[in-house]
Amino acid sequence: MPSNLVKILLLSSLTSLALPSFSQHSHGKGTLQLSLNGDVLQGQWTMPMEALLGFEHLPRHAAQTEAMNQLQKSLQNANYFIELPPEAKCQQIEVKAESDMFQGLKSKGHSDLQYAFKFKCAHPQALTKFGFPFFKSHVRSHQLKLEWVSQGTQKAATIRSSKPSFSL
Ligand SMILES: [Zn+2]
Repeated sequence: MPSNLVKILLLSSLTSLALPSFSQHSHGKGTLQLSLNGDVLQGQWTMPMEALLGFEHLPRHAAQTEAMNQLQKSLQNANYFIELPPEAKCQQIEVKAESDMFQGLKSKGHSDLQYAFKFKCAHPQALTKFGFPFFKSHVRSHQLKLEWVSQGTQKAATIRSSKPSFSL
């Protein structure tokens, strides 16, 4: 095989690998990977900032700065995003909210929230239902594509703002 052709094939496979993160950005729609390992519930939520704030550029006036600061503050408590059954007795052990906007970086037109959280649960077997209260506070959010993994079992669901919960 000519080496140029090999190079082209390599390049095109790299491009296709890089594509999903761009195509995932769809206004109003987010994704959530949720997994339970033993007594640790872990999640990774990605959401367009547009769905949470109504804008994806750096704040241009005081009201937008305030809205962004308020979002960051609210996200320190993962219960702002996800509601767990009280019987599971879960305690938040880690939370991380990242976005180029939070760092004051200019986005290239679009911006996402990357949110990671971890809970330790005394009764993980009680984790059978999850609520998503953030839909109420962020009316531009419409949908969450959820992937659940626990002890080798997988489940996928599309959560909509009209019925913001997921049951196992
Ligand atoms: Zn966008």
